[in-house]
Amino acid sequence: MKIKARLTLGVGLLFFLIILLAGVSAKYINALTTDTENILVANYNTLDYSRQMLLALDEDMTTDVSIKKFSNNLRRQQNNITEVGERELTERLANDYEKLKLNPNQELLYVSIRKDLTDLMLINMQAIERKSNIAKQTAKTANMWIAVTGTLCFLIAFSLLINLPRSIANPIKEITRSIKEIASQKYSERVHFESSSEFGDLASAFNTMAEKLEEYDSSNLAKLLMEKKRIETLINNMHDPVIGLDENKRILFVNDEALKISGLKSNDVIGKKAQDIAVTNDLIRSLIKDLMLPEKNSESKINQPMKIYADNKESYFEKELLNIEITPTGESTKQLIGHVIVLRNITPFKELDFAKTNFIATVSHELKTPISSILMSLKLLEDNRVGNVNEEQKLLVQNIKDDSERLLKITSELLNITQVETGKIQLTLQQTNPKEIIQYAVESTRALAEQSNIKIEIKAANNLPQITADSEKTSWVLTNLITNAIRYSYENSKVIVEVKEVVDGQPMLNFSVQDFGKGIDSKYRDKIFDRYFQVPGSSKSGTGLGLAISKEFINAQGGKIWMESELTTGSKFSFQLAVASV
Ligand code: ADP
Repeated sequence: MKIKARLTLGVGLLFFLIILLAGVSAKYINALTTDTENILVANYNTLDYSRQMLLALDEDMTTDVSIKKFSNNLRRQQNNITEVGERELTERLANDYEKLKLNPNQELLYVSIRKDLTDLMLINMQAIERKSNIAKQTAKTANMWIAVTGTLCFLIAFSLLINLPRSIANPIKEITRSIKEIASQKYSERVHFESSSEFGDLASAFNTMAEKLEEYDSSNLAKLLMEKKRIETLINNMHDPVIGLDENKRILFVNDEALKISGLKSNDVIGKKAQDIAVTNDLIRSLIKDLMLPEKNSESKINQPMKIYADNKESYFEKELLNIEITPTGESTKQLIGHVIVLRNITPFKELDFAKTNFIATVSHELKTPISSILMSLKLLEDNRVGNVNEEQKLLVQNIKDDSERLLKITSELLNITQVETGKIQLTLQQTNPKEIIQYAVESTRALAEQSNIKIEIKAANNLPQITADSEKTSWVLTNLITNAIRYSYENSKVIVEVKEVVDGQPMLNFSVQDFGKGIDSKYRDKIFDRYFQVPGSSKSGTGLGLAISKEFINAQGGKIWMESELTTGSKFSFQLAVASV
């Protein structure tokens, strides 16, 4: 039943019950009133008239007042005949009164009239008693009916009071609960109400909505699951090992390649803390090492390629650590939600690099012998015992000699760099006199300096301490720095070679080569020691390897090398090596 109909019926029923109760009460009150009125009008009046007539009789019936009083009351009584036998008694009374009027002194008539009157009064008193019993009965019946109707009204009103609000409030409560369930994403929630009420319509609309939401949710979920699968497959099929961590360094995913190189099993790592896995796994330990550092340090880290032995072969990987940050919906600040470690497999490049290094090493080694023999032959050509060469031929021989020496320098630099690249720098560290190094370097560059009329100035104290160094490699470095200084200086200028003792944590010897040439722009300061780097616009005759090899040689001996330069005022290259402990 519709709520509207139910409310109308309930209120209507109450209304009807009130009317019924009022009707029943009115009916019985009316009956009781009639009963009492009956007594009052029909019998009480007769008693009163009879009493008045008796009083008149007791007074003197000869007086006009008494006769009039009696006559009036008799007339009234004649108009108020209500009981059985009352008419006959009244008529007899009237006859006796008529006789009395004719014979006022006849005593017997008085007696007879008195008897008539008392009979009349008796009849009416009996009637009063009977009617009072009837009224009592009416009151009893009224009580009973009012009680029955009242109880009925009470029961119906009570049942309405209990059921009507409940029948409206309960479905509302149920709907509210279901809406809350839906709000907490439990889309399987349904409500079931009697279909004919408005709540039935509401329930069916609600169920349709829930069904659609459920369908939408499950289709979305399926889509999301599909996307997740796709991404997982993508990551798994990547040739580079990938490991994903959440913001608490808990492992979220590890692709097949990463499992292969780490020797781990997916079930053993997913959901576990990386730190816990790192305890037993060296690879994971070195991978998360940077993550465990305070953030600013880990970012500026330059990652060295990692050599990993897996799958029966050595592979090289370059580690890349990505911090995953998102800006949550409605917020403006970024939030870290995890990290991804990608190991880029650089084995093919490394293999190519090895091949290149080997090739350079072989070629430069093979070139060294013919170049040396060319230089030997040129030396013989210069000797007069072999034969005289004219001035023009001498010039040609000199050119060939210069080019051959350059070739020899280049091949030796190439050989050196192959040593550096293969990590095979062989050092012979021993106590060395710095003066010998300076002397060797200056001697071997003197001819070059003289060509441009450049003076090499040496500033070195007499009592310089000995250093722990590979004298051959250090001499090579100093020679290279002086050669550069001469090459990039203007003619007729000077190059200052200075050696002095400094304390940088420990006693050190500082070698510096200063020129007054064109200098180097400060923006190249970081790149100048890189392999194959040449300042743009400078002479291309070199290889760009000299400074790179110098750096490796000095670093290998535990020293450091740096450059200070101003464009136009010249450059100053310096290196530092430890003083030998006595
Ligand atoms: P190269 O064989 O080209 O000289 P280096 O590694 O010795 O290789 O030097 C790298 C580059 O640095 C050079 O090409 C040159 O441009 C620059 N350079 C080196 N030394 C000096 C210097 N003293 N003055 C100016 N530029 C220099």
